[in-house]
Amino acid sequence: MLFDTMDRPLRDIRISVTDRCNFRCTYCMPREVFGKDYVFLPREDLLTFEEIERVVRIFAGLGTEKVRLTGGEPLLRRGIEDLVGKLSVIDGINDLALTTNGSLLAKKAPALAAAGLDRVTVSLDSLDDTVFRIMSDVDFPVARVLEAIDAAAAAGLTPVKVNAVVQRDINGDQVVDMAKAFRGTGHIVRFIEYMDVGTSNGWRMDDVVPAREIVAAINERWPIEPLPGAHPGEVANRWRYLDGAGEIGVIASVTEPFCGDCSRLRLSSEGRMFTCLFATGGTDLRGPLRSGASDDEITELITAMWERREDRYSEERSGIPLGLPKVEMSYIGG
Ligand code: SAM
Ligand code: SF4
Ligand code: SF4
Repeated sequence: MLFDTMDRPLRDIRISVTDRCNFRCTYCMPREVFGKDYVFLPREDLLTFEEIERVVRIFAGLGTEKVRLTGGEPLLRRGIEDLVGKLSVIDGINDLALTTNGSLLAKKAPALAAAGLDRVTVSLDSLDDTVFRIMSDVDFPVARVLEAIDAAAAAGLTPVKVNAVVQRDINGDQVVDMAKAFRGTGHIVRFIEYMDVGTSNGWRMDDVVPAREIVAAINERWPIEPLPGAHPGEVANRWRYLDGAGEIGVIASVTEPFCGDCSRLRLSSEGRMFTCLFATGGTDLRGPLRSGASDDEITELITAMWERREDRYSEERSGIPLGLPKVEMSYIGG
C-alpha cells in the first residue's frame, strides 16, 4: 500500500470515462459554459479501455482496492460494459462501482451486472419534475430515473445509492420527501452538500445546506442514530432509522471536511491523475502510456506523485492560488 505525506493510503480510484454528458445540471455543467460551442475532448484523447485496464492493474499492484467509473455521464461511453468486464477480473479490485445520472441505466443495468459491476450510485436531486428539470436543465422525467433505480436493483447492483445535491433555495425544502421516498426500499439516499468545485457554477456558501440541518430535518420526522463507517475512507456519515426502515448518508464536504481520511485518486478521461477534487493541475499518464513506458516506470510515476501528496483543500479552503482555474467536476468525475 502507498502512503502520502499525511499517511493516507491510495485505496481508491475514480475514473472519468468521458467529459460529455446529456444533462446540464446547473451546479456541474451550466449551459452558459457547456453550451453548443463548448469543445469536448476528441475521441483520440480519451484513454482506451485497454489503457484503463492496464492502469488499473498497476494501481491494484500498489494496493488500490476500489474503482468507481464516472464522468461526465459514463453510460454515454460506447461499450462501457466491455470496460467493466476487463476491470472486474483484476486481482485485488474488490469493489467496482459506477455513478450515473440514470438516464441510460434501465437498458444497461443487466449487461453491466453480467460484466461484473458490483454497485451503482444514481444521482437524483428531486422527486418533483419541475425542480428536477430546473436542476438538470434537461427535459427528463423523474419517473424514468426511478425506473432505472428499480432496474439496477433488479439486476443485483445493490445496494443502490441515490445521490442528491442539496441547494438551499432550489431543493433545500425537499430533503424529507427524498428520505420518505427511499425509506424501506433498501436504497440508500445520500445528501451531498453543494460544493465549490470548478469555476463555472457560481457557488456561494449561502446556497449550502449544512449536513447538520439535513440530519435535524429528517430526525424530527423519523428519529435516526449514527452508524459507524462501513469502511475506511468512507465519505458519507451514515445514519440509521430507529424504526428499522434502513439508512441514509450525508456528505458534509463543506461544513465537516474529511481530508484526513481521503484515500482517493482521480483519473480524468484523457489520462491525467489528480490527487484532490480541487486540484488545479494533474499528472499526465497518457503520454507515458502511449510512448512505451514500462509498468515499472508507470508505477514509479504514480508512487512519486502519491508520496508527495499533501492536499487538504476542504480543510484549508485557501490553498488555491488566485487566478488558477480549478478543475471542473464533469472533467474530473466527482
Ligand atoms: N453524470 C454522473 C452523475 O451525475 O451521477 C456522474 C458524474 S457527476 C460529476 C458525479 C456526482 O457529482 C453526481 O452525484 C453529482 O450530483 C455530483 N456533483 C456534481 N457537481 C457537484 C457540486 N458542485 N457539488 C456537489 N456534488 C456535485
Ligand atoms: Fe452530467 Fe452528472 Fe454533471 Fe449532472 S452531475 S451535469 S449528470 S456529469
Ligand atoms: Fe480529498 Fe481534496 Fe476533498 Fe480533501 S478536498 S477530501 S483532499 S479531494
